[in-house]
Order: sequence, then structure tokens, then C-alpha cells
Amino acid sequence: MHQYIGGGLRKARGGESQAVVDPATGRTLVLADRASPADVEDAVAAARRAFPQWSRATPGERSAALHELARILGERADELARTESSQTGKPIRLSAGFDVPGTVDNAAFFAGAARHPEGKAQGEYSADHTSAIRREAVGVVGSIAPWNYPLQMAAWKILPAIAAGNTIVLKPAETTPLTALLFAQACTQAGIPDGVVNVVTGRGPVAGEALVSHPDVDMVSFTGSTPVGKRVARLAADTVKRVHLELGGKAPFVVFEDADLEAAIHGAVAGSLINTGQDCTAATRAYVHRSLFDDFVDGVAELYGRVRLGDPFDEATDLGPLGSERQRERVHGFVQRAVGEGAKLVAGGEPPAELAATPWASGAYYRPTLITGAPQDSEIVRQEIFGPVLVALPFDGDDDAIRLANDTPFGLAASAWTKDLVRAHRASREIRAGCVWINDHIPIISEMPHGGFKQSGYGKDLSAYSMEEYTQVKHVMHDLTGTSRKAWHRTIFEL
Ligand code: NAD
Repeated sequence: MHQYIGGGLRKARGGESQAVVDPATGRTLVLADRASPADVEDAVAAARRAFPQWSRATPGERSAALHELARILGERADELARTESSQTGKPIRLSAGFDVPGTVDNAAFFAGAARHPEGKAQGEYSADHTSAIRREAVGVVGSIAPWNYPLQMAAWKILPAIAAGNTIVLKPAETTPLTALLFAQACTQAGIPDGVVNVVTGRGPVAGEALVSHPDVDMVSFTGSTPVGKRVARLAADTVKRVHLELGGKAPFVVFEDADLEAAIHGAVAGSLINTGQDCTAATRAYVHRSLFDDFVDGVAELYGRVRLGDPFDEATDLGPLGSERQRERVHGFVQRAVGEGAKLVAGGEPPAELAATPWASGAYYRPTLITGAPQDSEIVRQEIFGPVLVALPFDGDDDAIRLANDTPFGLAASAWTKDLVRAHRASREIRAGCVWINDHIPIISEMPHGGFKQSGYGKDLSAYSMEEYTQVKHVMHDLTGTSRKAWHRTIFEL
């Protein structure tokens, strides 16, 4: 599979490739090109050439193209869902019921948002001048995306950027380039001009760094881990690029003493297992009032035991594999170290034995894992694991719960479970995260922003706020006096 540059598939100049592996079986699906810095150069040049025309298209013209894109993505929904499930191992129920419809809705939303550039009023803020605000595209955007939601991440990066009149070069994760390439093809099919959307497939330290450092890239939009995000920000600083970072998370899930326990148990299972836990907003730390703690742990463990692992293309499958064997080893390492240090393994902590004699025996599967008894300052409570692992810890008072919820370097998302309005308002005010759910955990919508506090990054994806990320504000000031000698000149020279 080649890269997508200037409106067509283009073979990588270095001739190198990398295997795209189905993590459910360990089989290679296809070889994808591995971009060299020369390929990045070509893609940035294509984006730069396309910029003048696309940035001057009217909002209505860009909107029409995005409406058409939404229609085409909807028409190709089945192909997109199947490809997404093949390269990530996520159950088809999730790809077809969440990833793809979410992406189609994102495209429809940004088709509308494209027509709604916002700015302050034009007027006379000085008696002798009229001031106006122009909201302009930033230029060529270099975007880098992770492997957990390859299609949605491509959409979240590409759509607001092009809706606002930018052109873009996207580098998907090396292991999951396929749906980003389909997305770029759909853009061309929708009539979006060649070079507006380009996809280079390659490794982070080579293609990613070439993109972030490129002097002709005006802005970097990165979604991925916090350590790589820090490196990206450092590299982008050399050319003073605008940087937008969507980084890791370690979402707390706070169950107050008056919560609906059954709702909290179901919410914790769904919120921790979505996408096999490889979700930056997944519920990872359940803080549960001591009076409910044992029942909560029993309830989650019981439901975890009923989760069906297996063929991602079987509609009955609940949980797919992790994204790669490497990721499974990483997750298992966290669990083993926690248990070695004295934490209690209540459920899971191993691959599913029932898949041993099936075609999925070589898949990167891992049982839903529930851990208790880990200290607040332990690795498993504080670091992002990115797997189907939930740690449950008891608390005694509301202040304690909020303090523990805030006690990590991350601040992407959180939830609070309570029937008490005052508690709900306090939690939404005091938890430091970009999103706080009350009595739910995970839902996202196109109209509302997604983005972190603290070391989860800065900038917003989705919503009208993301249009601000991808535009810059210009002040234009018109003289109203028509005179050659302005009154203010006298402060400089008296003639
Ligand atoms: P990662 O940071 O390892 O990689 C992300 C991307 O960066 C990949 O495309 C990779 O090739 C590229 N990359 C790696 N090294 C690079 C470098 N030196 N320079 C430039 N690019 C480089 O993350 P991952 O393992 O692919 O994804 C999981 C992470 O993404 C988790 O931390 C998760 O929380 C985060 N994530 C965050 C959000 C969000 O919205 N905040 C959404 C999804 C995933």
C-alpha cells in the first residue's frame, strides 16, 4: 500500500515498507510504504502548492466538499469498518457502531462549521480608524496520529484543518495506516483538490520528526503519548510552529456513597473495556466510597468474567485483542509488577485460555483485569497502561475522592457517579480534566470539545473550538482621516 500525496497513491522513494499486522491473528495483512524524509518533503510541497487555492475557496465551497465527503464516507461505511477492524482487531460492533458513524458525523459537523468562521465585530476602536478581524487559515498543517482509533484520529485531524482552509500532511501510526489512506481517497472522490489532504506512512522518529521539523509546515497537531508529545513540542519550537497536543490520560472514575451502584458497575465495565482499554479517556482508576467498595468490586469482576473475547468479525464478540503483541506484553508487565508489589488480582491478568485452540490463538488477547490493593503512588495507579485494566481503590470522604482523582500528571477526562446535585457540581468544578462526565463515562459528540488539562496536552479536537486551533486572527486597521499628517505623528515629530 502506497502513500497518498498530491491526490494519488505514490510509492515511497526509499522503497522501504513495513508490515500491517492483524492483531487478532498475527497475520500480515499488507505491506505499507515506509516514508523517508524525501517523501515528507514531497507531501509538504504538495500541501504548500494546494494552499493558495484551497484557503481562498469560499466557506460555502469548502462546506459543500465536506458534505460530499460525509456522504461518501457513509456510502463506504462497511469497507471502512472492516478495514478498521482488520488493522486494529477492534470488534466489528465497535467499528461499525462507533468509529465509522462518529467519523461520518464529524464530517457533517465540520461541513457546517466551515461556514461559521467567528470573529469580533468590525468597528472604530480609535476615532480615526476602522478595525477589522480576519480569521485566516494557518497554512500547511503537519499531523501525527496514534494507532488506537486510526480512522477517527485521521478525521479529527483532517476535518477541522481543511474546513478552516488549511492543507494537511497526516502521518498515521506505522501499524495502522489503512483507514487514513481510505479517508484521503474519499477526500479526492468528494472533489477536494489534489494536495489538500496528504498521508505519509512511516515511522515516528523518521517521517514524524521530518514533518514536525519541516520549515514549510506552519502548525503541528499531534495525538499520542505524553513523552512523544514533549519531544514533538521541543522539535516544533525550533521553527516556532503552533502546536496542538492531545496526549495520554489516566481517567478517574469516582463513585460517591449515594451513587446508583448498578449504573456505576456497568459504566465501569464499558468505560474501562472500550477499545480493549486502549482509549485515552478510558476509566482506569475507580475510586469508590468505602461503603460500596466490596459490592462494586464483586459486580465489576462478575461482569468482566462474562465478557466474550474472540473473532473481531463475530457480532457476538465483546472484546478484541490489544493493538499488537508488543502492547499485550507491555500491559502484562504492568499487571505483573503490581501483583509482585502486593496488589491483589481480582480478575484477569492473563491471556484467555479458551482461545488456545482457535484461529485467534496467536492474537494479542488479554482478559479484562481488575486490581485492588495497589497504593496510590504505585506505577499501576499513576501511569497510562492502555489496556483492559481497571484499578479500584476505596475512599472515605468527598474531599479525599477529589484529591485522589486529581493526583496524577494527567487531566484528560474523568467521571463522577452520584445522585446528589451538589456533589455533581462540586466534582465537575474541582476535578482538573478537559471533560467530566456525570453518571456516564466515554460518550463524545462532534459539537463538544475534546482535549486535556495538565500533561494530557493543550488545544481542542472536535467542536467549534477546534476551528480556532486551525485558524489565526489578523487585525486589519484602516485609516479614516484620509490625511497625510495624522494627529498621533506629533508624539514622534513636531513639524
Ligand atoms: P505514540 O506517542 O507512541 O505515537 C503516536 C504517533 O507519534 C505515531 O504516529 C508515532 O509514529 C508518532 N511518533 C513516535 N515517535 C515520534 C517522534 N519522535 N516524532 C514524531 N512522531 C513520533 O502513541 P501511540 O502508542 O501510537 O498511541 C497511544 C497514545 O496516544 C496514548 O498515550 C493515548 O492516551 C494517546 N491518545 C491520546 C488521545 C487524545 O485525544 N488525548 C487520543 C488517542 C490516543
